[in-house]
This record gives sequence, structure tokens and C-alpha cells, in this order.
Amino acid sequence: MNTPSLNIDLHCHSTVSDGVLAPAAVAERARANGVDVWALTDHDEVGGIAEAAQAARAVGLRHITGVEISCTWASQTVHIVGLNFDAENEALVQGLHKTRSGRGSRAQEIGRRLAAMGMPGAYEGALEFVGNPELISRSHFARWLVKAGYEPDVQSVFTKHLGDDRAGHVPVQWATLTECIGWILGAGGVAVMAHPGRYKYTPMQFDALFDEFEGLGGRGVEVITGSHTPEEARHYARVAKQRGLLASRGSDFHSPHESRIDLGRLPQLPSDLTPVWHDWF
Ligand code: AMP
Ligand code: MN
Ligand code: MN
Ligand code: MN
Repeated sequence: MNTPSLNIDLHCHSTVSDGVLAPAAVAERARANGVDVWALTDHDEVGGIAEAAQAARAVGLRHITGVEISCTWASQTVHIVGLNFDAENEALVQGLHKTRSGRGSRAQEIGRRLAAMGMPGAYEGALEFVGNPELISRSHFARWLVKAGYEPDVQSVFTKHLGDDRAGHVPVQWATLTECIGWILGAGGVAVMAHPGRYKYTPMQFDALFDEFEGLGGRGVEVITGSHTPEEARHYARVAKQRGLLASRGSDFHSPHESRIDLGRLPQLPSDLTPVWHDWF
């Protein structure tokens, strides 16, 4: 069922990954913004879900389990959102633990690169912003570089130093698409391609990515997301329709000061698409 009257936000982050608000504060902000159904989707980590579920109950928000898993496909990073799974599933928990394990040494390398680029002390600085010692990300470096006065805002940091094609970016070999979808399905969840508009693939590669994603049991695609322009949203609405994929909606909220779109403040899904939540309630 498409439920246009409900405000559903199935993508956002807390201090358990690279957001700036604790899970309970994200729940409260979602409710205050009029969200009815909510999933916290921290990167490579389900450690915030218990707090999220409890806080959601306290404010009268319907909670769905969520995670955003980093994977590598054709030498680029793809994010897969998992929804409505058992967050205690052993293989999922272990797989996410393994996925997080390369972040510490990678962060030290980012620190060395930034030092070589004339910005010393960034590794130690980034740690000041980290809420979860296993989850140091480029966002934490970006926040420190702003605080230290190297750039005016986080977006400029990514544009100049930490974006995928910039000198300070240290690529990681994340999980494979097979592993990542396997963990989500094994835990009873639905796998959703996160913000495809952000990936730099050729049209042929996009076709191959979606073919493989569907072949592995992937069911959904984010259509309405804070990461898409209106044109990208229209394009992925067509892709969802043509491929028979379920459509998802999520702000990708990280911080009141950084995110393009606040929790719940997105257009509704186009009414001719089947939403990822159609058989949940
Ligand atoms: P990491 O997982 O450490 O590679 O960091 C990826 C995170 O950095 C993403 O989840 C975003 O929160 C953030 N990020 C990546 N690219 C950009 C960008 N161009 N602008 C703002 N944030 C970005
Ligand atoms: Mn992030
Ligand atoms: Mn993402
Ligand atoms: Mn995200």
C-alpha cells in the first residue's frame, strides 16, 4: 500500500557512525519534524538500534531496523541500505564488524596525507569528533578541518580534499555486494540501493550493477533522498518502475548544520511506485 499521508524517513545517521546527534536525539528530531515511521541507518553498524528503538517508542515514532553498508563494486564505493531485519543476527553483526575493521589504519593514512598537504594533526583532531571508536570516517576529518579553520564548511572539505577523487581520500576495499546483500537477507531484511545518483558509473555499469543487485536478491532503490537532485529522483523513479524495484525515501540526515535536507523534510514518493514499506504495515 502506498501511504502518502505518512511521513516515512528510512535513512539517517547518529553518533554511532558519522552523525552528530545521539540515536535518541535523532528520534526526537524526527518526531518533532513530523516523521511517523523511522529507520536509523548508521554506516556499517547496528550498535545504535537498541537506543533508537527505545527512544522511538518514547516519542510515539514507529521504528524500523536499519543499516547502511559500505561495499566496493567495480573499484567504487556503493552503499546498500538494509531495512527491517533482525539486528542481533550473528552473521550480520560479524560481517559489519569485519567491514569496520579497516577504518582505523585508513584514518591514520588520511592523517598522514593531510599532514603532507599542510594540515597536520588531523587524525588526532578527527578523533575529537568520533562517537564510536570503530567508526572513524571522512566526515569526522571534515568537521575537524572546518574547526581548525582550513575550510569554511564540510562541503568545501569534500570538494577540495576528501572527495573520492581528491588527494586526501584513501580508498578502502569494503565488503562485496554479494556479502553485503547476503548479510541483510540472512537477517530477514530488505536490501535497498542507496542514493544511486551519487555513483560515477557509465550507463552500462549502472545496468550491470542493478542486474547483479537484483540477481543477489536486492529489492529496493532510494528514489527520494537528500542526496538526489530532482532530476536524479525522476530518473531513479523511472528505473524503479522499469525494473520493478521497490522505492525508498530517506533524508540521509547527518547534522542540523551540514545536511541538505532535514529529517522528514522530503517530497513524497511518486504515487505510481511501490514503496519498500508496502507490506510492513
Ligand atoms: P567514509 O565512509 O569514511 O568513506 O565516509 C563517507 C561519508 O562521508 C559519507 O557517508 C558522507 O557522510 C560523507 N561524504 C562523502 N562524500 C561527501 C560529499 N561530497 N559531501 C559531503 N559529505 C560527503
Ligand atoms: Mn555518512
Ligand atoms: Mn551513503
Ligand atoms: Mn547515509
